[in-house]
Amino acid sequence: MISWEEAGLVVVEALKKAGFEAYVVGGAVRDKWMGRPIRDVDVCTNASPQDLKSIFPKTHDVGINHGTIIIPIKGKGIEVSEYRTKAPLHEKSLEEDLSLRDFTCNAMAMNRDGTIVDPFNGKDSIDKKVLKTVGNTQETFFNDPLRLLRAIRFSIQLDFILEDEVTKFIEGNADIIQQPAIERIAGELDKIATTRLTPKSLSFLITNKVIRSLGDIFSNKENILSSLEKNDTFFIQGILEFWSLAAYSQDLQKSMGVLRRYKRSKKIENRVIKIIEAINKGLHEEMKDYDLYLLGDECLDVTEKLILFFNKEAFGSTKTYLNRYNSLPIKNKRELAIDGNMLKKKFPDMSGIWIGQTLELIEKSVINRDMENDEVIILEWVKMREQTKK
Ligand code: ATP
Ligand code: MG
Repeated sequence: MISWEEAGLVVVEALKKAGFEAYVVGGAVRDKWMGRPIRDVDVCTNASPQDLKSIFPKTHDVGINHGTIIIPIKGKGIEVSEYRTKAPLHEKSLEEDLSLRDFTCNAMAMNRDGTIVDPFNGKDSIDKKVLKTVGNTQETFFNDPLRLLRAIRFSIQLDFILEDEVTKFIEGNADIIQQPAIERIAGELDKIATTRLTPKSLSFLITNKVIRSLGDIFSNKENILSSLEKNDTFFIQGILEFWSLAAYSQDLQKSMGVLRRYKRSKKIENRVIKIIEAINKGLHEEMKDYDLYLLGDECLDVTEKLILFFNKEAFGSTKTYLNRYNSLPIKNKRELAIDGNMLKKKFPDMSGIWIGQTLELIEKSVINRDMENDEVIILEWVKMREQTKK
């Protein structure tokens, strides 16, 4: 297996051989300097997309970011972009490309020999753990308001403080975060979601003006903040946990509205709604075995975590639901000793609706341990039931 850094350097090497300039740039250089794992690599170059297509045998275009080409190297996709310029007539250069990037920590480039080009003192702000814009702060954010959300993301992910200028700008202008396309906002929120979010970073996230200007996420703010005070070891990580907490509400329509607005996939939407519904039920009453079964282990894990988070006093701190789930007689329909086809064979005159309803009844009885999960016993029970109906 080749590392991300090695894959990036393969591209840089090939471009140099073809007579072009090329550098690893952005997050990868920052993460290497910080000693963090590198999870993807961007390369910038003076070669044009057409040049790239003639140098590399295989390339993919990136839809949203035209001008960016992905080059597959041993299973890793390296994103390569031509130097950006302020004006079309400018001669393209590394310096100008770096000057157009958002934050100084993201505006460094690395040569193939590992030397770092750092015209904006990115290393220095990394060492001081300060997030600082490369150019004029006002211009940086007005030119692309998404950078406000990126500032929040990097501050949480890298544990940096925002430079005073940035904080001041946010105080006065946070509402411009409503301007970028919702897909771009959701993309940044997803990157926040995959970070381990501790009570400290969650409080910062929920209370800062940029997120508040989005208005609709974390509608249950007060409840979350007061629970955070009582749960100092709590954390969330991952799309499912993040959106379940963000969209959590007693009003399912409201939760659904958040998920739709941020264009979550149907699959995520269904699971998050299932979780929120279960939290609301679970906060008031003990969950039944059948409830646990319907949730499944992945959703149950998030549900239980959030029930304990919202009401530790009442529900203690051990994951009893997950334990109970693990000792259920069956975990899904396929583990049932009979299926629809078997029922159809034994009861050929019955309708499809009858088969569906009967299967559900069997499933419930097995889960509730009213009936053993055994083919003979189940079929006998169905037969008796039909006879008593006549
Ligand atoms: P991560 O490691 O989380 O992906 P990253 O720094 O690589 O963080 P990306 O969104 O992948 O962030 O962007 C790659 C680089 O492109 C950034 O480091 C930055 O230099 C530049 N960049 C990305 N988005 C913007 C933007 N909106 N404005 C200015 N520069 C940007
Ligand atoms: Mg990146």
